[in-house]
Amino acid sequence: MSKIVQFSTIGALMAGHIQGEQAFARLRCGCNFGLGCSADLNGELTIFDGTAYEGTAGKTLKTLDFEARVPFIQLTDFKPEQEYLIEHVHHKNIYENLKRFTQPDNIFLAVSLEGVFEQVTFRRPYPSAEGHVRDVKEVAASQKIDTHQYIAGRLIGFWTPEIFGRIAVPGFHFHFLDESNQISGHVLEFYMNQAQLAFEEKQTIEVTNPSSKSYKDLKIDVSLLDDMIQKIEK
Ligand SMILES: [Zn+2]
Repeated sequence: MSKIVQFSTIGALMAGHIQGEQAFARLRCGCNFGLGCSADLNGELTIFDGTAYEGTAGKTLKTLDFEARVPFIQLTDFKPEQEYLIEHVHHKNIYENLKRFTQPDNIFLAVSLEGVFEQVTFRRPYPSAEGHVRDVKEVAASQKIDTHQYIAGRLIGFWTPEIFGRIAVPGFHFHFLDESNQISGHVLEFYMNQAQLAFEEKQTIEVTNPSSKSYKDLKIDVSLLDDMIQKIEK
């Protein structure tokens, strides 16, 4: 069982540490699966087969350069331990579906759902205007939400237990990647008549903190953080 390798935390990201800091290449060794975001929150990252796809509103999906620096990413070498064909699964009943096969409440899981999506709704940020540094709220307020129907692809993501909810998004965090690797984004809603559910328990999570001065100087108001994570990331 491999670990989850992570750079920075969802808490630091939501508190405003959004500049690219760690090169994707330094983190990806052996990892084929994951999610994150690109520098200055200019795109949602979905990592599949070792390639990171960057989804930005108004742009075609692009492959992230290995040397690109990212503010937040979670990666792992996904080797499914359990796989099931499940039916009538959507964003509201995926937890109940998962619970049929494991007790997820206190553990980390890497999770994928593959098949034809009768519907999938996801969002991508607009790119920042040159020279303009945005804050998290500004990015969150101007995102493009798209719904696709009858599209083949997969959800790639993690289940994080509530007690680790400032390290990563508590509960499910899924990004979508279509079968042809052309369409991707942060998932808000989905519905599948039939899906191949695959998951792997991850006992270890390795978090590398940013080392920059701006991170060390970052003021993190934890009393606001949980609410912000719920509002912006769920
Ligand atoms: Zn996301």
